[in-house]
Amino acid sequence: MKIAIASGKGGTGKTTLSTNLGSFLAENNDVVLVDLDVEEPNSGLFLKSTLIKKYDKFRMVPEWDLTNCTLCGNCQKVCNFHAVITLKTKVMVFPQLCHGCYACSELCPNNSLPMKQEKMGELKHFKVGKLNFVESRLDVGQEQAVPLISQTLEFVDEKYTKETIKLYDSPPGTSCPVIEATKDADFVILVTEPTPFGFHDLKLAIDTMRVLKKEIGVVVNRYGIGNNDVIDYCEKENIPVIATIPNDRKIAELYSRGELLYDKITEVKKELEKISKFIFDRNIGGNK
Ligand code: SF4
Ligand code: SF4
Repeated sequence: MKIAIASGKGGTGKTTLSTNLGSFLAENNDVVLVDLDVEEPNSGLFLKSTLIKKYDKFRMVPEWDLTNCTLCGNCQKVCNFHAVITLKTKVMVFPQLCHGCYACSELCPNNSLPMKQEKMGELKHFKVGKLNFVESRLDVGQEQAVPLISQTLEFVDEKYTKETIKLYDSPPGTSCPVIEATKDADFVILVTEPTPFGFHDLKLAIDTMRVLKKEIGVVVNRYGIGNNDVIDYCEKENIPVIATIPNDRKIAELYSRGELLYDKITEVKKELEKISKFIFDRNIGGNK
């Protein structure tokens, strides 16, 4: 069972939901929570975790070797990302723009662009009580989130069985990192707020998930503020609103102290129970 938790914009409560749902489900199930917001992972701030193991993560980028280069310009022609240019006297590679597709390296007639490993970040595996927690973080200066997200998903797939519930705390927005984080999920929970901004960005996220042909449900956070547009829209579009997390000062206080909510606020626990029932009743990912 692979469930991605995503949102059209940051700050909607995606991490709050991920950490609380992960901890709640782990009380009776085998669960791994995976923070895939690799540019700014913050699930760990809410989990009192113990580090089990840390792994350096690498990507491949070409490195120019002048020995046999004839400055033919082929590498520049084949790179779709303008990450390599041929000048009069040398070839320059811009690793920040490189997507590691190997085209320039493979198509160089003189083997002058061998691919080399470059460290892009770290993956850490933690334990929080019964909950497994995996967090990946890009190194400062690294700009490509997708390769690290992809390697993190591979790590989780290799390490955990099919029966493990996998929760992906995805990056916000609708760009490549979100698509990478959600493309393999059996179900996507979209977290939003009942405000005009929340509604606008939710519609973008729904459109993206529809292109990916994902089954989706919505969780409304800070329910009680704003208006009813989100709920009305979901009804009209036949999208289930699985839970509504109330707007409550106590929640904001606990959040600001980096604490979990469901064990202290009954209303939050009830909403998590609704989500749990929803995913088990629907037999998402073939689990019961
Ligand atoms: S394709 Fe190879 S030989 Fe041609 S300019 Fe690029 S690095 Fe040099
Ligand atoms: S590996 Fe691909 S993306 Fe990177 S510089 Fe070469 S052609 Fe461009």
